[in-house]
Amino acid sequence: MSMFDWYKFTENPRCPKCGTELKEWQGKDGPCALFVWEQGKSNPISQEIEDDEIRWSDEDLQRFFLPDSFTIYSYDCEKHQPIIAECKCIDGVWLDFKFIQPE
Ligand SMILES: [Zn+2]
Repeated sequence: MSMFDWYKFTENPRCPKCGTELKEWQGKDGPCALFVWEQGKSNPISQEIEDDEIRWSDEDLQRFFLPDSFTIYSYDCEKHQPIIAECKCIDGVWLDFKFIQPE
């Protein structure tokens, strides 16, 4: 299975072309362990794995960080997917993003 992480915005962005709300975001530039990253936090907030034996503990999650810049994508707009956003960390915390597709 190809792994990725989930990304949650504080406020869901909207498709720059038509305004459709984009709720689900994934990316492969982070640790790719099905972590859930939340905008404004420096470490994963959870891990979407059902098996307790392979899931990292809450304590272990504090050891993971995002790269300074990373790309995520969403398929929530049927017309304009994939929507791609480039995100930036400031002092290790995911804060900014800008759309790179569609332009
Ligand atoms: Zn759209």
